[in-house]
Amino acid sequence: MGSYDLPDGAVKCLDKGFIRLVDSMGRDAAIVQAARVSYGKGTTKVSRDRALIRYLMRHHHSTPFEMVEFKFHAKMPIFVARQWVRHRTANINEYSLRYSEAVDDFYIPRPENVHFQSKWNKQGRETADVPAELKAKTVAYFKEMSQRSYELYTELNEAGIARELARAVLPVNLYTQWYWKNDLHNTFHFLRLRMDDHAQYEIRVYATAMAEIVKRVVPNAYEAFEDYILNGMFFSRIDREIFRKKLPERVKEDLLDDVTYQLVAGLHANKPRDENELYKLYQKEGGQDSEADFAIKWAARDNAEGNIFEMRELKEKLYKLGS
Ligand SMILES: Cc1cc2nc3c(=O)[nH]c(=O)nc-3n(C[C@H](O)[C@H](O)[C@H](O)COP(=O)(O)OP(=O)(O)OC[C@H]3O[C@@H](n4cnc5c(N)ncnc54)[C@H](O)[C@@H]3O)c2cc1C
Repeated sequence: MGSYDLPDGAVKCLDKGFIRLVDSMGRDAAIVQAARVSYGKGTTKVSRDRALIRYLMRHHHSTPFEMVEFKFHAKMPIFVARQWVRHRTANINEYSLRYSEAVDDFYIPRPENVHFQSKWNKQGRETADVPAELKAKTVAYFKEMSQRSYELYTELNEAGIARELARAVLPVNLYTQWYWKNDLHNTFHFLRLRMDDHAQYEIRVYATAMAEIVKRVVPNAYEAFEDYILNGMFFSRIDREIFRKKLPERVKEDLLDDVTYQLVAGLHANKPRDENELYKLYQKEGGQDSEADFAIKWAARDNAEGNIFEMRELKEKLYKLGS
């Protein structure tokens, strides 16, 4: 069925789909450049590019990320396109079945992606294995229905019935194609929702491929997105209340102390101090360990990269959690 040639530079998705970057505007530097209009060039320590991008991402200062744009060409089953199109900020131009004849391109799931309906999540699939015969039957039905509907479509088409009506006999596993243009901020929003475990497997395949492309164009912004959004965590008032009541004082103090070590390491990395000044710096930052304990822990510390701003913000969060 159909012709499945991959265009140059395209990443294959599902059985016959793909995504490829057609064009992009701006890189990490464009984000920094835009942010400096609002913060003033080189006025503060955040002027280092990577740190600035991370700061912007942490604080949801999103408009600088809108300065970068991507234009993708993607081919996906119609049922995937229906989910994708809900992301309203994109500009889209889709292949039209009113003007052109449908191509015999249908998505046929692989047996390993045929699952039972989840009992817990009404929108999800169960991980338990489906018996091989039932998987085979499901795949066979997809093939049978695709072939039959395409025969009916071709018959109507050849009889001169308007394509805009004849296409309605085709099912939603038919592939469509579009150009999709969006800015980086809204692309991250799309990726956050569609790479998530709760998103349908078929759209996750495209989102994951898109993420790899985005990562290559804006590596610092993507790293910040991964750290703070994709793998970050949000606590509600109710969550915080539980932590506040249940976390023992000792644990809160230990956490604060660990953060203070990281903070000192960050300050030291930025402006190296004499060994004998480090304990004073640690105390100045609120560290509670004795000098002897400090020396042991400092010698054994994990040399984390120590983002000073991030550590100060984490300290604030820990204070809030405890009060
Ligand atoms: C796991 C999952 C399950 C879903 N299930 C369903 C479902 O059962 N039924 C269903 O209908 N949809 C469902 N959706 C789609 C979902 O409700 C959103 O429509 C979709 O994810 C797009 O999100 P968005 O509106 O934030 O994105 P976008 O449209 O890209 O918008 C980005 C942001 O811009 C702002 N924005 C854009 N347009 C407007 C506007 N007109 N007015 C105000 N603010 C705007 C909003 O802040 C929005 O968050 C599901 C999505 C996911 C990820």
